[in-house]
Amino acid sequence: MARPEATMDKIVSLCKRRGFVFPSSEIYGGFSSTWDYGPLGSLLKNNVKNAWIRSVVQERDDMVLLDAAILMHPQVWQASGHLDNFTDPLVDCKSCKQRFRADQVEGDRCSACGGELTEARQFNMMFKTFVGPVEEDADVAYLRPETAQGIFANFKNVATATRRKLPFGIAQVGKAFRNEITPGNFTFRTREFEQMEIEYFVAPGTDDEWHKHWVDARLDWYRRLGMNMENLKLREHERSELAHYAKATVDIEYLFPFGWSELEGIANRTDFDLRQHQEHSGEDLTYFDDQNNNRFLPYVIEPSAGADRSTLAFLVDAYVEEPDKDETRVVLKLHRELAPIKVAFLPLSKKPVLAELTRKAQKLVSPLLMTQYDDTQSIGRRYRRQDEIGTPYCITVDFQSLEDDAATIRERDSMGQVRVPIAELPQWFAQAFSRG
Ligand code: ATP
Repeated sequence: MARPEATMDKIVSLCKRRGFVFPSSEIYGGFSSTWDYGPLGSLLKNNVKNAWIRSVVQERDDMVLLDAAILMHPQVWQASGHLDNFTDPLVDCKSCKQRFRADQVEGDRCSACGGELTEARQFNMMFKTFVGPVEEDADVAYLRPETAQGIFANFKNVATATRRKLPFGIAQVGKAFRNEITPGNFTFRTREFEQMEIEYFVAPGTDDEWHKHWVDARLDWYRRLGMNMENLKLREHERSELAHYAKATVDIEYLFPFGWSELEGIANRTDFDLRQHQEHSGEDLTYFDDQNNNRFLPYVIEPSAGADRSTLAFLVDAYVEEPDKDETRVVLKLHRELAPIKVAFLPLSKKPVLAELTRKAQKLVSPLLMTQYDDTQSIGRRYRRQDEIGTPYCITVDFQSLEDDAATIRERDSMGQVRVPIAELPQWFAQAFSRG
């Protein structure tokens, strides 16, 4: 377990109180398991997505980025198998009318009221909409249930435009929508969520090796961002649970307060998708290998992660309660790359001379890093408030600063303090945040 004190109740309450995550449409009583990221949550989630892009695109020379549309030609979903296969078995209670996923029901009675359940029927999880002003079948479109298909449909465009040779991959971050029967566990399972997906195209025969490479690379990403490795594990899918397109799948699971659950799946999708799109579109999607003079459909390794799920896991993993004198210090020990606010500027008092110098110091740092200014309540309270949102550094400007033009930097985890000349703050932080 993350830490026993990191219960979902505490995480949800901290998220609401401090502006990480709010229930959507709360003034109307909320809306079925949808959530809004507040000022701190949106910074945190952006940092997670940017850390992912940096790792899988910027730090590699075999990857490119894509941002495809959410609405796609409906034939895409025929070709991908989603229209026929993207279903969950649904049962209704005949008495209380509650709905359940048949594979999550124990026994044959309703878990809420003990009533009789209907026969299971297949329920397609894609959200349907209509393009244009008339609601006709001819104008049906779907909100994408995964970002992956936007990548497959652009395989040829990207390969041609970038003149890439195999192996190479395409990464994409974006919204996906699934009409989940049982959303829940806060942002873990929602109907609207964000994915961070890679399709990595390789020559058949090299796919097993590349699958292993990506499992290792992705696990390492969580480790480098400070996640406790004892809270992560790999789980290989049994033959019987493999998706219709997959040759092998390894999940990365995290030990949430509600148990081990999937953060990311890394699948070997073979040439299934490109073959399907080639057949349905009539476009030649083969790759010509000029070294061996042959033409083939590449195999695909797909590391598919959830931005919301990993953001939640980073939050849970970072939550610590430490005894502190008579009180408890709540600290989010977020990796500094993920922390929403990097440096807080705290004048010792509200006196205008101190405020002015503190603002001057902040102006030196704010072009480089996300900062916050706070002059309310005691300095101890302000430190605690920053600890609770994971701010790695606080800077205090005091009366001594008016004489020596220096300020005190206080570090979140050790609570150690150093005195640094204000003019040197930009270099000091450039060093502190360099990723050596
Ligand atoms: P699950 O078994 O939890 O429903 P899945 O195996 O259907 O997930 P994939 O289709 O492999 O999920 O999607 C890849 C990733 O997208 C998941 O690992 C998860 O991080 C994220 N994801 C999928 N569905 C949701 C959802 N409803 N809410 C939030 N994130 C999701």
